[in-house]
Amino acid sequence: MSASGPPQGARPPGGSDPRSPRGDRSVGPVRRFVPPRKGAIAADPRSAFRWESVDLLAYKSDAAAPFRDVTRQTLFKQPDLAGELRYFEVAAGGHSTLERHAHVHAVLILRGSGLCLVGENVHPVGEHDLVTVPPKTWHQFRAAKDAPLGFLCMVDAVRDKAELPDDAVLETMRTNAFVRAFLEG
Ligand code: MN
Repeated sequence: MSASGPPQGARPPGGSDPRSPRGDRSVGPVRRFVPPRKGAIAADPRSAFRWESVDLLAYKSDAAAPFRDVTRQTLFKQPDLAGELRYFEVAAGGHSTLERHAHVHAVLILRGSGLCLVGENVHPVGEHDLVTVPPKTWHQFRAAKDAPLGFLCMVDAVRDKAELPDDAVLETMRTNAFVRAFLEG
């Protein structure tokens, strides 16, 4: 937006028209990014990136899937899209679930830094890196100790359920020293 544009928070005419035909909610085509307030992150390390009219949700409802300090926001999901775009934020020191499934993930790191495991390899990742998780490939995201890890994740709208590793799989993974260090955080 140019310096002569409307002030922050102003809406162009019709911008919040509740009759807007698009999207899964009764909001206009543009939902604004809401940056964390200055000091909010220091006060609460779980102050996630937010967008207007987007609910902040628990990462998973499956109590059996281990994870720590992750929030989920569904940015785009509607019947005329074959995919969904979600935003996950892992707070500093937290991690997503170690899992695999037939559907693919296309991930764009939007905020912070950390590590990701994809298959048998651990990769450092930072803002604007792109991560592709192929089908049936074990994967996990871990935030740095001192920074969150926020990422966009594109998936099929209709997709299979994630599989969790059993003890035998974990034992095999731990034979790789890099993977073992990653899993131990
Ligand atoms: Mn996954």
